[in-house]
This record gives sequence, structure tokens and C-alpha cells, in this order.
Amino acid sequence: MSLRAEILSIGDELTSGQRLDTNSQYLSQRLSDLGIHVRYHTTVGDEFSDNVLAFRAAAARAHIVIATGGLGPTADDLTREAISEAFSLPLEMRPEAMAHIESLFALRKRPMPERNRVQAMFPQTSKIIPNPHGTAPGIDLEVMVEDREPNHRCRLFALPGVPAEMIEMLNVTVIPRLVQDQGAGAVQWRYHTLKVFGIGESDVEQLLPDLIARNRIPRVGITVSKATITLRIAAQTASQAEFEQLVAPTVREIRDALGDRVFGEGEIELHEAVHQILDERSLRLGVIEVGASCRIGHMLAKLQSHTQRGLVLSQWFACESELIRYLEQDAIAASSGTEVTLQSALAQAAEKILERNDLDRCLAAGVYPTLRDVASAETIPYADFTMCLARRDAPTKTTTVSLGGHPDVLYHRLAKTGLNFLRLDLIGRDSRAQETRSHRA
Ligand code: ATP
Ligand code: MG
Repeated sequence: MSLRAEILSIGDELTSGQRLDTNSQYLSQRLSDLGIHVRYHTTVGDEFSDNVLAFRAAAARAHIVIATGGLGPTADDLTREAISEAFSLPLEMRPEAMAHIESLFALRKRPMPERNRVQAMFPQTSKIIPNPHGTAPGIDLEVMVEDREPNHRCRLFALPGVPAEMIEMLNVTVIPRLVQDQGAGAVQWRYHTLKVFGIGESDVEQLLPDLIARNRIPRVGITVSKATITLRIAAQTASQAEFEQLVAPTVREIRDALGDRVFGEGEIELHEAVHQILDERSLRLGVIEVGASCRIGHMLAKLQSHTQRGLVLSQWFACESELIRYLEQDAIAASSGTEVTLQSALAQAAEKILERNDLDRCLAAGVYPTLRDVASAETIPYADFTMCLARRDAPTKTTTVSLGGHPDVLYHRLAKTGLNFLRLDLIGRDSRAQETRSHRA
């Protein structure tokens, strides 16, 4: 049976939003590593009766509860009393805890305030969790709660809120006790991720209807960030080898259904995947961007080393007419008088820069719209985005897509669409599907 856990965070500073609850995140990650499934995060303010109820509820539904906060010596620190009340276990003085607190004050050459004595009070039957660097020792207690399932036992740990103390006590004392007493860590949650671009979240679900099912083994979760989809395959196994064997069919199924839209596995971003291909094949790339952003060049530039591969040139034009003026300098554009389309201007610029700089590819993309004008309007911003890819010894490829999105996401989506256009060419795939489809997300 897999162990269920609950994290209980205590403090008004958390419920009021003044401070972010980072302890829960850390604790959940560590417990997950041990194969313990964290089913609840509860946050409760410094109100005694709320704390009592929160402890009872947590102990009734979880096998392991880790609480943080409220172990200090001041009047608003209620954890000890709340545990005592919740499980009817009177507090008793523990001389060894008292001795530790006194010794800390002696070391700091300060008299111990009377109220610190409360930190040596422990619920009956509980064990002490030493706190080498703070005055608040933690509480380790096993309770039986009858109301859920017969003989339901819960192991409850209360740790200080100070993140550094909490982390030290968790790693030095709590985790070894969980491993030894509860058999934690025999199986672990392991993850395999696939990164996807060029398709909507709901389209993924439609293409992979059985995959996102709740009780599937391995599980598949789907998240979206900045227009990139992450599929996270998760399973609990005793070894990495067993995990890989278990997930292989699921990985294959996803790759079969999504094809080239899967651009990588593991923690990789689209621009990194593109850069990797350029680097492996020693290709020299130029990027031209037009409009209110120049994100493709920026993303690739961050990955540059001093090798003459990958991105070697990035050029930006604030607007279409600037691009045309640049072409007119060479009298390349506009067979005098005729109007140049954006598409032909981008194609000409890409070809010119490709040739002049002896590149293997030159991507020209635009126009990034301004977001400020449209952000206040009722319509969501969108752009018709044209991409031209000039190639050595091959005709220039061109496509235009119409894309939309929240102002925080739109530039990412446009830039990634440009990168993906390049990627599909680099891996020898025709991006015709992209040319004919136009979606406003
Ligand atoms: P102390 O012995 O220091 O009084 P304590 O157990 O009483 O410890 P708190 O007073 O609740 O802990 O919190 C101490 C500090 O830790 C505060 O700065 C608080 O904001 C921070 N803290 C408490 N809980 C969390 C949490 N869940 N995530 C991040 N920081 C926290
Ligand atoms: Mg507090």
C-alpha cells in the first residue's frame, strides 16, 4: 500500500499572503522522492481551534503528516498545544530538550527567557526531533485515529517554520525515521517528460484519449507553459531500469500519435533543441526579425559559445518599412515603384544575409505586433506571422500563420512558431501542415 501524506503549514503570514509557503514545496518533493504520495497541502493561520481541527483532519486521512511552523516560544506559536488538544495527550516537560535549549542560550551568552521553557514541553508518548541550530525541537508522534478506517495509524512530525531548520531536521532525522520505521523509499516516483510544440492542449488529449486517464499506470500529466506542452509520464518503481521498461510503450504511443510535434525528451526547451541540431551539424544560422520583439535571436544568443556555429548573426528591424529601406539600399527590393509584400521582403532579406555571410540557413520572421495598443482592447491580440527560410542550395521556404494569445504568451508563441518552422526543415520534414493550418489559440 502506498503511503499517503499531508503537509500542514501553519502561520498567519502564510494565510494572509505575506509570505509564500515554500516549505510545502520542498517537503512534497522530498517525500515524493521516497515514493510517498502527498495528497493534501493544508495551510492554517495562528488560530488555536483551527489548528486542532486541521491536525485531527490530517491525521485521519493521511499516514504521514508533516507540519511546519508554530513551534516558537511566543504566544502565537500554538502547535504544541494544538497537538496535545487534538489527540488528548497532555504536555510534559522533557529534561533533555530543556538542557539543549539552556545550552544554546549559554553558548550565546544570554539568559534564557522564562517563556522558552515551553519549547521543552512535549505531548505524552512523542519523541523529540533534535534541532541542532535552533531552540525549537520538533515533535514526532504516532497517533491512532479510529474514525476513517479501522486501526488507522498516523505518524505526525511537527517541525519549525524557519526553512533552514526545517530542512536540516527533515534530512537528518525525519527521513531516516521514515525509511526505517515506515519502509519509505523502497519504491520511488520517477518521471519521464516529452516536450511538444505546435499543437493545442486539447488536441493532445484528443489524439491520445486513453493516455490522460486518472488511474492509468504509468500516469501521464499534461501542462502548458509559454505555448510549450509538457507531457510528464510518472510511475512508482523500485529501480530506474524497471521504470524505463514500464514507460517505453507509453513513450512510443505518444511519439506515434504526435510525430514531429515532439521536439525533445527531458528538460529541454524548443530553442535548445534547435540549437542542438545546428551545433551537431555545424550549421551557421542567421535570424532576421521584424516588429516589436526579436525573441528568436535573443533565445538562441543565450546558448552561444565562441564556436562559429549555431546562431552567427541576428538582425532586427523595428518595422516593415525599415526592412524595406534596408533592401532598397542595394536596390534589391521593389523593382522600382511596385509595392513589395512583407513575404517577398522577408525572403529577399533572408537570401541577402544568407549569401553575404556564408550561412547555411537564414530565418526571417515578422511582424511581431505591439502589445500595448491591443492589450486594453477587447479583442485578444493576434498576429499574422510570416516566416521565410533561406537555405543554401535549396529554394526559400515561406509560410504565414495567424496566431493569438494572451499578451504574456503571444511573443513566446510567435517566436517558437518561427523556431519550429526552422526545426522541421532541419530534420527534413515538410512543414506544409503548418502552412495550411491557421489557428488562433
Ligand atoms: P521559531 O522557533 O523560529 O519561532 P516557528 O516554528 O515558530 O519557529 P514560525 O514562527 O511559524 O516558526 O516561522 C518562522 C519563520 O519561518 C518565519 O519567518 C516564517 O515566515 C517562516 N516560515 C514559516 N512557515 C513557512 C513556510 N511554510 N514556508 C516558508 N517560510 C515559512
Ligand atoms: Mg508562526
